[in-house]
Amino acid sequence: MLKVKNLKVGYDNVPVIFDVSFEVKEGELVSIVGSNGAGKTTILKTISGLLKPMAGEIEFLGERIDNIPAHTIVEKGIAHVPEGRHVFGKMSIRDNLLLGAFTVNSEEQIEKTLNEVYEIFPRLKERENQKAETLSGGEQQMLAIARGLMSRPKLLMVDEMSLGLMPILVDRVMDILKEISRRGMTVLMVEQKVQEALEMADRGYILQTGRIVASGTGEELLNSEMVKKAYMGM
Ligand code: ATP
Repeated sequence: MLKVKNLKVGYDNVPVIFDVSFEVKEGELVSIVGSNGAGKTTILKTISGLLKPMAGEIEFLGERIDNIPAHTIVEKGIAHVPEGRHVFGKMSIRDNLLLGAFTVNSEEQIEKTLNEVYEIFPRLKERENQKAETLSGGEQQMLAIARGLMSRPKLLMVDEMSLGLMPILVDRVMDILKEISRRGMTVLMVEQKVQEALEMADRGYILQTGRIVASGTGEELLNSEMVKKAYMGM
């Protein structure tokens, strides 16, 4: 579904992503993991068209997307849940969700998606008229993911959903993402929480200072000496 080939990206002509290649197949949950500053956010921003690559290609459903504007990329079916959630605090939960559907024209389609999203996130339905700022951090993260689903994407990309959450909430948000994947959504997530992100992934990639240094199934990576040493303190 998504193929990234020899990607190079930088800021002010200083590269921070070097020759990165990976792919996400339909129905998969893929995790790219790495420490602070490894370049995870930069990769997602480049896929969604917010940054332009210095070199390389990005293909989505067989079509090059690395030279088209961000709003067209959303229309093609890629939703990006950014790091830091960015919900609109003064707006109701329902209105935050409806904003996510800005590329969908049919009212009927929007209502249908809203009901599906509420099925996955019953807590958001219960509180749909409350302002988003009254939600806890974990619930705001759920809202950000739910808003991403409102565009009826083919690929859902989630940036660092564990950021700033207590461990118990991290587990809860990750469970939700697993459930979304189980329902058939293709998911690309980037995470600093290496163990959790690899445990739930079909496949994963390890990113170190802008380069992919290992790849495999979640289980293979978790069992590799490199991951154990570098990320699990073993
Ligand atoms: P984190 O988990 O901390 O968000 P990350 O893996 O997502 O890390 P990026 O945010 O992609 O990493 O950053 C990769 C590198 O690019 C870092 O060295 C960072 O300092 C640099 N960088 C990120 N944004 C900018 C920017 N706007 N201008 C210049 N350099 C940047």
